[in-house]
Amino acid sequence: MVIKMLTIKCARCKTKIMKYKKIGQGKVINCYKDRITRLYDYETKDDLLQCGNCQNTIGEIKEKSVSMKQEAFTYSGHKIRK
Ligand SMILES: [Zn+2]
Repeated sequence: MVIKMLTIKCARCKTKIMKYKKIGQGKVINCYKDRITRLYDYETKDDLLQCGNCQNTIGEIKEKSVSMKQEAFTYSGHKIRK
């Protein structure tokens, strides 16, 4: 099982949004709330998660996860365990 620590940034202004512990391969489609280890600069509006700097909508907040808007964010990260 690959575990990565990702830093998720706004695609528009590069502001850091959050740190996310991703388990497994593949794209970041949903961010489970219990694996978000740190929140940086963000805002919420209704059920939307937005960039705290430019209000770009990053994802939609669900009960247990954030459904990520694919073109709205970028990420970088490193493996913490293989
Ligand atoms: Zn932004």
